[in-house]
Amino acid sequence: MKPSFGCCPGLMLFLLAGLVPASAQSKVAEVYSLSQLIQMAQPLVQQASKGNGTATRIIEKYPDHYTMLVYRNRDGGAELHRDFADIFVMVEGKATLVSGGEIVNPMPSGEGEIRGASVTGTRMELTKEDVVHIAAGVPHQVLVPANSSVIYYVIKVETTH
Ligand SMILES: [Zn+2]
Repeated sequence: MKPSFGCCPGLMLFLLAGLVPASAQSKVAEVYSLSQLIQMAQPLVQQASKGNGTATRIIEKYPDHYTMLVYRNRDGGAELHRDFADIFVMVEGKATLVSGGEIVNPMPSGEGEIRGASVTGTRMELTKEDVVHIAAGVPHQVLVPANSSVIYYVIKVETTH
């Protein structure tokens, strides 16, 4: 006999919806213009000036990646993360990305992370609209020219799955 859901289609939809992870339901893509991202970064400007010249804001978290905004008016530290790849979109300003090579004065910093003073790798100039991919395990550091600042959007992708 053919199963009939005629009595309660709403209930069936409800039960089926329970099989789909919450994060996959009723979500749409997120699209940002560079000017929207600059607006979203404004609270970070004040935060950074009170602190060490860097402020970050997580935009949204997902099961194995998250999105964030970074504002810097000073050089970032050197870092390497074993379990995350970084994808950046440069939103505003200019920076120098140093990547590869070795971390100078390495110090463990949390699970799978090493931080340090600098990176001995290759220097690449970054400017607005550049897209950057840093594979997990690659040492990297963002340098900001004196008296300037940079905003970039980051997707941090967990690579252990
Ligand atoms: Zn990173």
